[in-house]
Amino acid sequence: MSKTPTIDYEKRQALLKEIPILQKEIQHLFSQLDQSYHLHGAEVPVTFGFETDLLGSYTRPSDHEEEHFHFSLCFLGYSIEKPLSKEDRMDLYKHEYAHYMQYNMQIPAEYTWQPGHHGSAWKYCCSLIGAAPTPFYKAGEALLEHDYDKQMKQKTIFHQESKLRDHIKRERDYRAAEGRNVQYQVGEEIQHPKFGTGTIEAIEKLDRSVRLTIRFGDEIKKIDQKWLVKTTKYKRFSDR
Ligand SMILES: [Zn+2]
Repeated sequence: MSKTPTIDYEKRQALLKEIPILQKEIQHLFSQLDQSYHLHGAEVPVTFGFETDLLGSYTRPSDHEEEHFHFSLCFLGYSIEKPLSKEDRMDLYKHEYAHYMQYNMQIPAEYTWQPGHHGSAWKYCCSLIGAAPTPFYKAGEALLEHDYDKQMKQKTIFHQESKLRDHIKRERDYRAAEGRNVQYQVGEEIQHPKFGTGTIEAIEKLDRSVRLTIRFGDEIKKIDQKWLVKTTKYKRFSDR
């Protein structure tokens, strides 16, 4: 019979005591990366938990959540049975930092074709800082050589046997939130793959999506914002 491992009180206490050391380790790494890329990742709050199905995550600031990194002590702590190796631990930090980077720095246009939390923009960030460009955790991966060029051209393949670093639910939450959050402004110019350049005239917030009224020349169309995301979301960043 398989049971989800539970962490008893004593172990929890031992793990909690490790937080300051881990925090220092993360801060040290993130400040180094910040210096290289002129970012402020080390200033983003880091929280810890006891998840057994989630290694870490980066949450972007939104209406209902503050920006933060989160890591599970059940993988990072020394007091657990099989802690991550130092290399894998550092790689996990870099994995989450790459998520932070993908939303906080300019991504060259050629790396924006593949959407998603683990799309080409994220893989590009991984290549800059030397993180394993895979959404999954496999022991020892941090020590492998990564062919970033190949990875960036590839679709993400989901291996059932491997553990997702960011819990799959996070990815779903992220997608749902992305669908609901208004990502455009009235008056903003957008690009549509078929209709070309248009101007947003009205924005309607629906239950699970955002409907935009867009003028393309003489024509007015109502389009879900998700159809624009792929072509313009990242472009808006690189236009700045
Ligand atoms: Zn991830």
